Amino acid sequence: MAYTKKSSGQARSRNSFEGQGRPRGRFKRGGPIRRKVCRFCADKLEIDYKNVGLLRTFVTENGKILSGRATGTCAKHQRALDTAIKRARMLAMLPFAVK
Ligand SMILES: [Zn+2]
Repeated sequence: MAYTKKSSGQARSRNSFEGQGRPRGRFKRGGPIRRKVCRFCADKLEIDYKNVGLLRTFVTENGKILSGRATGTCAKHQRALDTAIKRARMLAMLPFAVK
């Protein structure tokens, strides 16, 4: 008796590992990285307590002095800026930090 086998119901190997791999792409905390250069070093600006327009760009809306890390100002100029802002405050040209 001839019995022909037919491979009709062949089991397919399930491919459950499709698209494997670890999720790539590292994120840096604190948003996109932008290189900052000290404006006073780059533009050779002079820090003057009378130059309120310039000083205003280094304080928040509340009158708080922005950190050198936030603005990219180097330590040397940040110190001078700090003094200038405080001096300008005394002359009522800049607001004091508001809570
Ligand atoms: Zn500088």
